[in-house]
Amino acid sequence: MRVAVVGAGIVGACTAWALVRKGANVSLFERKRPMAETSRASSKLLHGGLRYLERGHVRLVGKSLQARAAWLRQAPHLCDPLQLLLPVYENAGRARWTIGLGIRLYDLLARGSGFPKGRWFTANEVGALQPALVRTGLQGAYAFYDAKMDDEALGNWVVEQFSAAGGEVICGTAVSHIDDLDDFDRIVNATGPWALELRRTQPGPSAYALDWVRGSHIVLDRLCPAAMLLQVPGEKRIFFVLPRNGQTLIGTTEMRQATPDNPGPTEDEIRYLLDAYNHYLTLPARRSDVADAFAGVRPLIRSADNPSDATREWAFERVGKVLHIYGGKWTTAQLQGEEAAKRTLQ
Ligand SMILES: Cc1cc2nc3c(=O)[nH]c(=O)nc-3n(C[C@H](O)[C@H](O)[C@H](O)COP(=O)(O)OP(=O)(O)OC[C@H]3O[C@@H](n4cnc5c(N)ncnc54)[C@H](O)[C@@H]3O)c2cc1C
Repeated sequence: MRVAVVGAGIVGACTAWALVRKGANVSLFERKRPMAETSRASSKLLHGGLRYLERGHVRLVGKSLQARAAWLRQAPHLCDPLQLLLPVYENAGRARWTIGLGIRLYDLLARGSGFPKGRWFTANEVGALQPALVRTGLQGAYAFYDAKMDDEALGNWVVEQFSAAGGEVICGTAVSHIDDLDDFDRIVNATGPWALELRRTQPGPSAYALDWVRGSHIVLDRLCPAAMLLQVPGEKRIFFVLPRNGQTLIGTTEMRQATPDNPGPTEDEIRYLLDAYNHYLTLPARRSDVADAFAGVRPLIRSADNPSDATREWAFERVGKVLHIYGGKWTTAQLQGEEAAKRTLQ
């Protein structure tokens, strides 16, 4: 079976790798280079997504936690467990008991994966871990565990596994029409945010609509002694403050946009992230402290008015010999790729 996979983001790479393991003869087409788009602009977390529990997405969180463990088993040199603090303030943000309950459920869903269980730190203990955190009203913090990775390096590792298993990678080739791949027995459209562009070259309306939700991060050239999950002041949204290569990574935003193309972070988003960070840290960061800023566009299946509530699940649509892939997240890309491969070969 000759299969063309279009798009070498993490979803296309995992799908191509799964297909070649199942004995297919696979060519992976990428218009730029592997991991050139959304898959290198993530928060670099392999995570279950604690916040999705609040929205009742228990099944997805469970799957993601098991997927997180699989990445650590397969590529321990490219990902590491990470302790995150979730500070709790008096009369602000979510109640302590809600967070505690969420973390207990998170631990339960992650059972057997070898990660330490969440625990409570007193305000003094938190101060020792993150000395610059605002102490006024601080009750303490829950600690829980996820994993951090280098998305570009781990994604390229998947592409290497695919090549080593006999797959062919063709970079710098944009596929503009499904008919261009007519020689192949099967085609997989794994172009992430651009999936509808290729879908439109086939007849009929697509079964799914996508929401293009840009997320931006900023990088401060300062050490981050402890990773934190914090609530944006005045909103229900959360944001991350993460250690990364001796610097501090802060993100993300959620800006709905009308096209899949990535315009990069706006000044408003950079200001929004700085304000959120400065609300919690006593050593304020100014615009001139921002060493880098980057954005990526999430290809979310349209499922909610508020992009924060949109599902991070994925879906497939089969049209003739083409399988179109919509949605998903980095952490679960191997599960998504495995399922896509099975459906492609049916
Ligand atoms: C700000 C942000 C933070 C995130 N953080 C996390 C996180 O911490 N953990 C997590 O699990 N998930 C996270 N996600 C989600 C995750 O990053 C995405 O779900 C995932 O990277 C999408 O991968 P993809 O392969 O579908 O898309 P992409 O990575 O965008 O890949 C699509 C590829 O297709 C190529 N392409 C497009 N059209 C064509 C064509 N016509 N011909 C050839 N090639 C084409 C593109 O060049 C691109 O390389 C985050 C997302 C964002 C935006």
